[in-house]
Amino acid sequence: MTEIATHLATAHQEIAAAARRAGRAPQSVRLVAVSKTQPAAAIVTAAATGQRIFGENRVQEAREKIPACPPELEWHLIGHLQKNKVRQALSLFSFFHSIDSQALAGAIDRIAGETGQKVDGLLEVNVSGEETKHGFTPAQLREAFPALAALPHLRIRGLMTMAPYNENPEAARPVFRALRALRDELQSAHGSALPELSMGMSGDFAPAIEEGATLVRLGSSIFGQRPQANAE
Ligand SMILES: *Cc1c(COP(=O)(O)O)cnc(C)c1O
Repeated sequence: MTEIATHLATAHQEIAAAARRAGRAPQSVRLVAVSKTQPAAAIVTAAATGQRIFGENRVQEAREKIPACPPELEWHLIGHLQKNKVRQALSLFSFFHSIDSQALAGAIDRIAGETGQKVDGLLEVNVSGEETKHGFTPAQLREAFPALAALPHLRIRGLMTMAPYNENPEAARPVFRALRALRDELQSAHGSALPELSMGMSGDFAPAIEEGATLVRLGSSIFGQRPQANAE
């Protein structure tokens, strides 16, 4: 498992190089190590190199693994969340990348209010329009944004997207560019600060950073291939 340390070091170099190409500070991009399907031991190994942010996509899996991991880690939810799991998710995760509907945002806000929490999260946008993807369409988001930005217990910190799978990372660039443009538009239309853009995975994080990503979500390039069953 020393490979994990090597992979993390390589990823940090590539992140820094992409940031510099875009005239950005390397520290303006944070690496979320996507540890879904990986055993707690792999997370412990990554944490020993100084990696702090880990991304999981299933509440049940996170609930089993988090207690076996160092307490100083920061857990981000990156997958679709069912409304009946919001309460559990709020007790496990400090940041929500994948708020993909107004109903879910409302449920998170309501339960965070009950538990006295303030929650930070991102709105997931289905930029490419693929039917298999979760998230707001750009049109839905323009419509819903004022109500979402006004929720008292959920602080919307930015936007998140997933580009369609393609062997060629450049194919994803227009999706990332569109997400950034939508963020810029919402910021100036509503005067809200939306500093975070969660975009870019193992295959396409370099163009994502060049287009403004502040959070990249890397799974297989850090931990190796996942079993097919949870490939999404
Ligand atoms: C699995 C997953 C990732 C990581 O994908 P890799 O290609 O393994 O880097 C990133 N984001 C989301 C939402 C995921 O579900």
